[in-house]
Amino acid sequence: MDFLRPENLLRYGYKDCLLCEVERKGEEKRCHHCAGRVGQRDRLLWEINRERIRRISGKLAAFWPGAGHLYSGRYGVGFFWAVLVPLALGLLINVWQGPSIKSAFRLIGRGSSGKLLLDVWQAGTYGHFVLFGAFAYIWYMSRKDALRGFRAILAPCQAVCPSNVDIPDYIALVREGYPVEALALVHDKLPFAAFCGRACPHPCEQKCVRNEFGSPISIMQIKRFAADHGYAAGVTPSSEITDGVPSPRIAVIGAGPAGLSAANTLARLGCRTTVFDENEEPGGTIRYGVTDFRFPNQALLSDVKAILDRGVHFQGGRKLGADLTFADISAQGFDAVLIAVGTSAAIRLPGTGDESAGFHDAITFLAKVKKKVPVRLHGKVVVIGGGAVAIDVARTVIRLGVADVTIACLESRETMPAFQWEVEEALEEGIRLLPSTASKKFLVRDGKVCGFEALQVEKIELDSKGRIMPRTVPGSEFEVGADVVIMAIGSRPAMDFLPPGSTRRLVDPHHHVYRLISKGNGLTIPGYMCGDCVRGPATVVEASASGRAAALAIYGDLCVSEVRKARFQDNYRRRHEPQVTDSPEWRVRCHGPKLTADESRSTFDEVEKGFIEADVHRESERCARCNLSL
Ligand SMILES: Cc1cc2nc3c(=O)[nH]c(=O)nc-3n(C[C@H](O)[C@H](O)[C@H](O)COP(=O)(O)OP(=O)(O)OC[C@H]3O[C@@H](n4cnc5c(N)ncnc54)[C@H](O)[C@@H]3O)c2cc1C
Ligand code: SF4
Repeated sequence: MDFLRPENLLRYGYKDCLLCEVERKGEEKRCHHCAGRVGQRDRLLWEINRERIRRISGKLAAFWPGAGHLYSGRYGVGFFWAVLVPLALGLLINVWQGPSIKSAFRLIGRGSSGKLLLDVWQAGTYGHFVLFGAFAYIWYMSRKDALRGFRAILAPCQAVCPSNVDIPDYIALVREGYPVEALALVHDKLPFAAFCGRACPHPCEQKCVRNEFGSPISIMQIKRFAADHGYAAGVTPSSEITDGVPSPRIAVIGAGPAGLSAANTLARLGCRTTVFDENEEPGGTIRYGVTDFRFPNQALLSDVKAILDRGVHFQGGRKLGADLTFADISAQGFDAVLIAVGTSAAIRLPGTGDESAGFHDAITFLAKVKKKVPVRLHGKVVVIGGGAVAIDVARTVIRLGVADVTIACLESRETMPAFQWEVEEALEEGIRLLPSTASKKFLVRDGKVCGFEALQVEKIELDSKGRIMPRTVPGSEFEVGADVVIMAIGSRPAMDFLPPGSTRRLVDPHHHVYRLISKGNGLTIPGYMCGDCVRGPATVVEASASGRAAALAIYGDLCVSEVRKARFQDNYRRRHEPQVTDSPEWRVRCHGPKLTADESRSTFDEVEKGFIEADVHRESERCARCNLSL
């Protein structure tokens, strides 16, 4: 494959690598002719302004087809839509043989619109109705197109990424030996490069075109390589909090991926941001929930440090509703508050007791293990749930020295929400699986759980609200023995700090950003909500995208005139290069080294190890760079 040569990559390819973060000595002027000269703040401002223009275009297009396109600068398309309507109207008037315009006005004046409609109906031929239909269709399509805005052609992997990370370009940067630039490019959209390089569900790999030619690119591993090497080389994130830049003060509640990503974007825009969290340390679920054998603390620290280094302030041990109130936040002079408190309240099954009776929930259990608080585990441990969290819990229990661990879930082995590879790894470590099992009644002896009565599940149905309703086989009761039961059946937000009667208005439907409409509790500044607390349990890449979108929405509302000034001319032109070619050696995917099941079950060390340099280059060479056009 004739790949772009390094000098061309630098000349044409990597506007984004600069992002005002990566400067190599002697190469400062390398992007002179491309959009890279525009600073990260200008690019974010343009992103907000482009969204504003898109919304206004949609409204204008409702009045006259093409008007929205003309407003947004898409003149060619705008004129096309704008002339189609007079064309259809002219044709209609020309062939019309029914009531004249004069008589129509007379009828409307007399209040006889019903009579007019009847006359039109009677005089109309099929041709008239076709023209009317065309007229309405033009209106509808032009509005739809105006609302869609300008869209660049994206590679399938990038299009499906919730954070819209420029995957082909960072893969190419890694291939050319620029991991620091690759990391900066990932950071433009996603500040959790080290996390998402290890524990992301990676929908990008499922859509990778290389699936058709063998197996997908190891996108996640390449990102991990960029993160580990980029951080090790010392990325120094720049702060835009300087004189002459408007810098509103924003309070963010919750230092999980959503809150930290919002704070990171706000700092890049020049805001002074303080993140409050009930925990002592930032990170949210990825610090206190995700296990060390999937995401070691060291990697978390590099992601979080890069965010805090931008000038974001963190205040731990401040719980909204207990140590902090909305009135405090308003009184401290903040201009807006963003709530990103995640889903910290575990859902428990009815009929279960507390920890002294042997009942635990996954969230509290994992947080205790991460904080090194002892948890009493003994005998037979049953984890209830079929998702990734249940698998993590079971694998943690086995690492804590318990020999008999079983996962019981409603789903069959094939339909479990956890990834199949996760289930396989758990089984290899010696965990047993009890699929298609519904707990009916918990059995307690001497105040301690001793098991539960279960039923065989025949089918899983959803009720009108989307809740799971298992259909069980009558008479299939059986007993499952258990000395400890850990429930991993989901979580929900705990937002009792919101004043009664609070509502919310959707601001960004794609990224689940809401405006909080609330009176009382002393909230006198604009409030926003984002992340899992409004969307329900999701993933880090989705929470991060939500936080970034919330930051853009907040800045757009607070600094309207600043945003309106933003202009951005993208001079970047992609070279026309050959795309996918196929040869047998490119069909084989590289796999990083891994601990064996025997090694992994007794240690909290990371199971999957990263690629070595030779592997990452070989793997990134397989990428077809689907974002280039022929
Ligand atoms: C066990 C587990 C494993 C997971 N594994 C993965 C994985 O491998 N990959 C993946 O992509 N996703 C994973 N997820 C999902 C992912 O962690 C979440 O989607 C993501 O963390 C949500 O981010 P968030 O910022 O909305 O909420 P959170 O991460 O929950 O952060 C919310 C923060 O708000 C704080 N907070 C809550 N209430 C208050 C209050 N009243 N005052 C102040 N602070 C408050 C909390 O302390 C917390 O720090 C996992 C989730 C769990 C539970
Ligand atoms: S081949 Fe490369 S650019 Fe194309 S979908 Fe896969 S990772 Fe993305």
